[in-house]
Amino acid sequence: MRIGVLALHGAVIEHIQTLRSIGVEPVPVRLPEDLEGISGLILPGGESTTMRKLVARWNLREPIMALARSGAPILGTCAGMIIVAREIAGGEEPVFPILDVTVERNAFGRQLDSFEMDLAMPILGDRPVHAIFIRAPIIERLGPGVEVLARLPDQRVVAVRQRNVIAISFHPELAGETRIHRLVATMAAEYAEPREGTAAAGAEPWSLGEAL
Ligand code: GLN
Repeated sequence: MRIGVLALHGAVIEHIQTLRSIGVEPVPVRLPEDLEGISGLILPGGESTTMRKLVARWNLREPIMALARSGAPILGTCAGMIIVAREIAGGEEPVFPILDVTVERNAFGRQLDSFEMDLAMPILGDRPVHAIFIRAPIIERLGPGVEVLARLPDQRVVAVRQRNVIAISFHPELAGETRIHRLVATMAAEYAEPREGTAAAGAEPWSLGEAL
């Protein structure tokens, strides 16, 4: 199974290595034709304004929207979360409006520019996730149908899912964390070969069993 990593800018290589480490073939996506034959896509961290420009320049907006609409899992980390949001606080135009949330960029201000902490993320099991935040965004508004996957101790939302779209404020790929990529791989396998009664066949959300 092949999962793409948008490879225009940002923390690309770390996602590629994480996918490889769990036995998934990573595909760097730079052009629309690179999307052919992939069963999921990761949008990495970096600078969302730079990604916005490069996505437009390489005509990737429509084909990535089509991939998302077809039900392929999309994971956005940090800047990747910003570019999947339907709304960006402050009025910037959305890039891929596929997740019904409002995000605030650089939400932690200067003093807390970057920090790390262990967070509960029940979808991944009992062991907390080691979350690295780098000039990270936060989710300010959740639309209907958006499920919260993780919160900070002060209750602010830092990880969500809406059907096939997962967005997280932090960087699992920099922390040696593979469970989020495994979750995406499980969803991608479902997308590639939907089974009766599973999410990709039109039933309820992804069941993960003990796969993680
Ligand atoms: N601050 C960046 C932005 O607003 C995101 C940072 C990151 O991806 N680590 O686009």
